[in-house]
Amino acid sequence: MSSIRARLTASFAAALLATMAAFAVTLFLTRRARIYDELQRAALAQTELVLGIVGQAELGGRLAAVEDSLVGLVLTPDLQDVLDEIPGYFLIIGEGGRFLYFSPAVRRFSLDTLTQLQDAALHAPTTGNAQMLAFGSREWLVVARAPRSVKSALSRVAVAVDTRSRDQARSEVLGTIVVIAPLLLLAAIGVAYAIAGRAFEPVNRMINEVQAITDGRSLHRRLPVDEPGDELARLAITLNEMMERLEKSFGGLRRFTADASHELKTPLTVLRADVERAMSPNVVRAERLIALEEALHETTRMADLVDSLLTLARADEGRFDLHREPVDLEPLAHEVLETAVILGEDAGLAVSMPSLEPATVMGDHTRLRQMFLNLVMNSVKYSPRGGSVEISIVKTGKTVAFSVRDTGIGISAADLPHVFERFYRADRARTRRAPTSEGPLEIERGGFGLGLAICQWIAEAHGGAITVRSRLGRGSTFTVTLPLAETPESADAAVATALSSRNE
Ligand code: ADP
Repeated sequence: MSSIRARLTASFAAALLATMAAFAVTLFLTRRARIYDELQRAALAQTELVLGIVGQAELGGRLAAVEDSLVGLVLTPDLQDVLDEIPGYFLIIGEGGRFLYFSPAVRRFSLDTLTQLQDAALHAPTTGNAQMLAFGSREWLVVARAPRSVKSALSRVAVAVDTRSRDQARSEVLGTIVVIAPLLLLAAIGVAYAIAGRAFEPVNRMINEVQAITDGRSLHRRLPVDEPGDELARLAITLNEMMERLEKSFGGLRRFTADASHELKTPLTVLRADVERAMSPNVVRAERLIALEEALHETTRMADLVDSLLTLARADEGRFDLHREPVDLEPLAHEVLETAVILGEDAGLAVSMPSLEPATVMGDHTRLRQMFLNLVMNSVKYSPRGGSVEISIVKTGKTVAFSVRDTGIGISAADLPHVFERFYRADRARTRRAPTSEGPLEIERGGFGLGLAICQWIAEAHGGAITVRSRLGRGSTFTVTLPLAETPESADAAVATALSSRNE
């Protein structure tokens, strides 16, 4: 079965059918038990009536039974007349099991049936407990009672009740169920199908709307939330949130592709211009060499860009396996400082390392070096002559912080939250200059805006974080916080601290 609506209706019909069957069986059983009780009560009432009539006669001093010359002891004709008026099947038994009286209905029995009834009446207990017996092709309920007075001429009265009324009730119940149940079932299935249809209407609407949205260009659209709080509203809200995330990531992807193409386009244009210039027959040898040098520079830039893009793409995919080993930050910091000093000398900056605490982290030496160098090179790049760059390594608790502080151009508050985004450059005009018709491209100060994104990935891949504090015109401080490696000494210290705190 295809739709949930049809499946729901079928399940409902099956459940209803089972409920109706259980209800019918219960009804049938309780009704049967009640009829049995009623029949037993009626039989008992009849025995009491007969015993009462005979008892009254004996109480009045009259004889209940008289000797008949033909059949022996029988009830007096007066009593017989009275009892003949009572409908039903009953008989009276006297001393020694002699049958004193048969009701008119019993008298009409065939001899065979009468013998069976007599036998049943003689053997039925006089406690009033009913017995079910089959004779004369029917089922009978037989009840017997003894008179209360010991001086009575009777020994017991037995009443038989035809149980056909009980069977009638059974067939009544079955008949009603057979007629009404299919009608009820059909009506209920119809109603259930209609209700399920109504319930699924908003779902169908939602499916159509989602189909219209997911064509790719309509990701800005959102599903309407009709009844806030119900399940469908929650589904709509969840889908809306998902679409918002999809829209953002699709947007990011589009921006990323556009930025990457743009960044590749500029060096390619320059490269083409340089090659064309070098190939020109009128150009002198010295000029050709300059053109080729520039072409080489652009090729290197492009290679750097592709390298950065590849790093980020692999990082996104989680395909980058960091080689983890204990890395002593002290020699690494010295190495970075050396490079920074050389770069700083060219840029007229004072580079120093005021604090260097010994620290070891678990990580990838090459990637950590790349991150620290990137931050230091940024500080050198964005600091005007005469400024200073300070590198420091400070331990706090279980972490170590590597900071680079500069007195450079700083980053505005508006740009600060975005500097770790891919291709984001705080001031493109300031950091980049395009080639002009007058001359070749000037050596650029800015990069592609991917360096900090890569730094952030490296810091996070090491279980750390990168933060920045900066004020425009005053300088910036980039800080990388990394967890310290568990050295044997630090582990011992941790155990000692734990033990001492337990002893306290
Ligand atoms: P880029 O290759 O352009 O330097 P980054 O991702 O390294 O790219 O940096 C992103 C942007 O953040 C830079 O374009 C620059 O505007 C800003 N920035 C980074 N470091 C500094 C710094 N030390 N001082 C001022 N601005 C900085």
